[in-house]
Amino acid sequence: MDLDRFPRVSLAHLPTPLEPLARLSAHLGTRFGGGPRLFIKRDDCTGLAFGGNKTRKLEFLLAEALEEGADTVITAGGIQSNHVRQTAAAAAKLGLKAELVLARNVPWGGGDFEHTGNIQIDRLLGARIHLLPTETDRAAAMEALAAELRETGARPYVVPVGGSNPTGALGYANCARELAAQAEDTIEGFDYLVFASGSGGTQGGLVAGLTALGHRAQAIGIDVDADPPEVEAVSRELAAATAERLGARGSEAADRVEVVAGYAGEGYGLPTNGMRRAVELVARLEGILLDPVYSGKAMAGLIGLIAEGRFKPSDRVVFLHSGGTPALFAYRSVFEGQDPSD
Ligand SMILES: *Cc1c(COP(=O)(O)O)cnc(C)c1O
Repeated sequence: MDLDRFPRVSLAHLPTPLEPLARLSAHLGTRFGGGPRLFIKRDDCTGLAFGGNKTRKLEFLLAEALEEGADTVITAGGIQSNHVRQTAAAAAKLGLKAELVLARNVPWGGGDFEHTGNIQIDRLLGARIHLLPTETDRAAAMEALAAELRETGARPYVVPVGGSNPTGALGYANCARELAAQAEDTIEGFDYLVFASGSGGTQGGLVAGLTALGHRAQAIGIDVDADPPEVEAVSRELAAATAERLGARGSEAADRVEVVAGYAGEGYGLPTNGMRRAVELVARLEGILLDPVYSGKAMAGLIGLIAEGRFKPSDRVVFLHSGGTPALFAYRSVFEGQDPSD
């Protein structure tokens, strides 16, 4: 796979660990009468200001920004955006200014949501925050801000929402390559990869990478946007475009995209009981913290697939932990007053 010809700046602690989920595997195997062997790829440990999956994308995106001579990075997201937080941290590390277009995208609020978690860190990182109304067209707002900054002589680079374009997705093709080698060395390969899918860059990049490698493992994205057709469409598009850039067949990658619906609840960022139980289960059995918006719902999806009998006991299933843990604080009330036996 021809990945090394793309400019890249080092931001992440790589390779991230691949660890067995021994107690969770045993627990779910007992509960559902036989389950697969579970492992976790710790992309919550990419290291940049609490880490997460956007850091891998930013290695390629911000390399492009530096090549273009940018001095300012603009990006957008919700108030509790992990993407925005990691972009602000990457900008700080590279000596670039960060301009963040934030719009409320979750009908959920309260003091914790507005002031702690990711937004607290954005402020700490010295980024300039533009808080806009819910219905704002974020892409248009970023372009307007870029035009305004150019007028003042600045050189802005716009990172799309979620860092999801064919450049950002290269970060997850890189993750596929890293994981394939790591799994080969430690667990003699893997059969499935399960993860949260939203703006499609993670899924598109992983599928493009697996296709370019000729690796047969199936990547399963769990929809966290409550809009599975859209998640599938953007993931297919990014898988195809990224695969082509890597010298593989776009149509082959697009055909491998699988998005599972039914675990997002009523909407993006809205808590579900399945998410809460999954976050508590993994914390109590493994000492690993998932997040309320992405990896908690993805784990609820993995548990659902095991319950349905999707996997054989001999299958090796890797759960990709994509980060997002700072949002645990913003969602404090969801986890309060819960009976540990519930
Ligand atoms: C952004 C994000 C995702 C989803 O990644 P996409 O590339 O947008 O599909 C998953 N988990 C976390 C923690 C995220 O911040």
